[in-house]
Amino acid sequence: MAEELTADVAIVGAGIAGTGLAADLAGDFDVVLLEQESRPGYHSTGRSAAIFIQNYGNDVIRGLSRASAPLFHGADRTVFPTPLLSQRGILHIADEAGLGAFHALVDGAEGMRVLTTAEARELVPVLRADRLKAAAYEHDAQDIDVDALHQGFQRKARAGGTRLLADAPLTRATRADGAWTIETPKATVRAKVLVDAAGAWADTVAKLSGVAPLGIQPMRRSMAVLPAPEGQDIHRWPLFGDASETWYAKPDAGRLLVSPAEEIPVDPHDAFVDDMVLAEGLYRFEEAVDYPVTRVERSWAGLRSFAPDRTPVAGFDPSAEGFFWLAGQGGYGIQTSPALSMLAGRLIRRATPPAGLEALVAPLSPARFRGTA
Ligand SMILES: Cc1cc2nc3c(=O)[nH]c(=O)nc-3n(C[C@H](O)[C@H](O)[C@H](O)COP(=O)(O)OP(=O)(O)OC[C@H]3O[C@@H](n4cnc5c(N)ncnc54)[C@H](O)[C@@H]3O)c2cc1C
Repeated sequence: MAEELTADVAIVGAGIAGTGLAADLAGDFDVVLLEQESRPGYHSTGRSAAIFIQNYGNDVIRGLSRASAPLFHGADRTVFPTPLLSQRGILHIADEAGLGAFHALVDGAEGMRVLTTAEARELVPVLRADRLKAAAYEHDAQDIDVDALHQGFQRKARAGGTRLLADAPLTRATRADGAWTIETPKATVRAKVLVDAAGAWADTVAKLSGVAPLGIQPMRRSMAVLPAPEGQDIHRWPLFGDASETWYAKPDAGRLLVSPAEEIPVDPHDAFVDDMVLAEGLYRFEEAVDYPVTRVERSWAGLRSFAPDRTPVAGFDPSAEGFFWLAGQGGYGIQTSPALSMLAGRLIRRATPPAGLEALVAPLSPARFRGTA
């Protein structure tokens, strides 16, 4: 028989979003974290490109990223014993056809420096001189140690008494007498607040809870691991990619990660690579570099899930008492997680938002989709 548990807050999904929120609430609330898989981080969180780029996404994302940077740098060493960020840099390049997208990207970007094509080729010597028409460099882009971040959030959550239930998919939730009854094969949990941090399954969890979906759309994106170009020390190369975001590449542990940067709408599932899409993306990459791709050592795909306006959703649903959305983080869920976890924590406490994030409460609220904003 399923165990019966009570909690103040039940969080569905132990990716970076649910775990970051559990870490924020830990100690102040009795939290149960439900995960359908046997281990946390199996889906999008474990499949990212692990990069922090300030000039990425819309203004709300940029606001969350800006607020997250000092939290990454100043993270509590007892919880996060190793540095979470390390310098990488990002080189945006364009060929003739990409010049429009390049100028749109550079105009209004923070901390971006336009380079000559010769300077760009000093940073990444395999770039083809005949194709390269423009380049800009963002020094502050950082590699994120996603595992260290996720582990740290888990450590903090556990230390504050959070109970993690793995292999515990929410199958149904109902609201009565001021509390949710959440059914999983492993346990039935009664909690005043139900947090939907289910990533690609955010709408599914809402529907299973009798709450209208918001239109959170999972989009597949894949990554390939290639051997480093022969004779090149790629260790210090920045992430580099085409300003129109049709491919990007990043050194990683002596190999080169290359992504076709695709956005293919799919139903939530355990994502896998479409070989044709990967091959087309690698072809676009090959057109920009003097480096024939002869071997793919490994590849994987993950889901980046977006709300209809491509802004994350964080807040109580005005149409469903005690139902809190933390979803739609798209391709920015790792880099925004420190600030978004903190903001979500304040909203659940019904406390004042962190300084500097007040203006983000309305654009993040699910009320914008309910006609009550
Ligand atoms: C290829 C790729 C590259 C990316 N690169 C970057 C990057 O460089 N920087 C960046 O910031 N972001 C990046 N992202 C985006 C980032 O990975 C996501 O935004 C982030 O991981 C989302 O976290 P999450 O916790 O919402 O989702 P997830 O990690 O998917 O977690 C959701 C969890 O909910 C669980 N769940 C679902 N349904 C149920 C249920 N019914 N009951 C219980 N549990 C359930 C799932 O099993 C899952 O573990 C990338 C994503 C991809 C795919």
